[in-house]
Amino acid sequence: MKHHDSEEDDRAQGTPLREWADEEIVMISALEHYSYCPRQCALIHLEQIFQENVFTLRGRHGHERADLPSTTAERGVRVERGLPLWSERYGLNGKADVVEFPPGGLPPVPVEYKHGGIRRGKAGRHEAIQLCAQALCLEEMFGVTVPAGAIYSLSARRRQTVPFTEALREEAIAIIASVRRMLQRGGGPGRLPEAVNDARCPNCSLIDACMPATVVAARAARLKAALFVPILLERL
Ligand code: SF4
Repeated sequence: MKHHDSEEDDRAQGTPLREWADEEIVMISALEHYSYCPRQCALIHLEQIFQENVFTLRGRHGHERADLPSTTAERGVRVERGLPLWSERYGLNGKADVVEFPPGGLPPVPVEYKHGGIRRGKAGRHEAIQLCAQALCLEEMFGVTVPAGAIYSLSARRRQTVPFTEALREEAIAIIASVRRMLQRGGGPGRLPEAVNDARCPNCSLIDACMPATVVAARAARLKAALFVPILLERL
């Protein structure tokens, strides 16, 4: 297995191992939610709201085989399913769908399963961030450099490699910090991130709980009132 090279060593040494309080630990799955929509992440991880839609149902069934902890060997590659992951450096906790351990000391390869298709030439950004966080855990757990992972589309039966570039690593680390700040702020009225109310919402399982159009309209009405009331009062 390839051990850390100097670039990864520099980055890793700048982020020391430390102890985290339970409430500071970030679930790896929260990163994909936050990357998709910070409000979705807050609703799930702060307000404990989770609703199934056709996309989450498909995703859940797609993950079922990968979620069962098991170890198999496929063409000389050790395949770990449902492998627990953690990082003391970044305060992460979670589970990998699949981690492949190739023979010959090659680095482990985290593999994330998804139901939908993969856009040609570009893996989904949200899944890539989650996968990169898995790589950060594997690097710390095994003391190796993990240069790439893969996203496997169950519907297209296609696998796409995701290189863990410095830019992707920095983005994943920034999102870990953002999720932690959001969790520490806590939930409740006025503390949830704004609704995005855009093309993401129709595919979001939380649309009924979130009511993005209503929330955005109410906010616009509040802003309008705040803008115009002082002017009217000035004229009195
Ligand atoms: S419905 Fe839209 S704003 Fe609300 S959580 Fe989902 S994506 Fe975010």
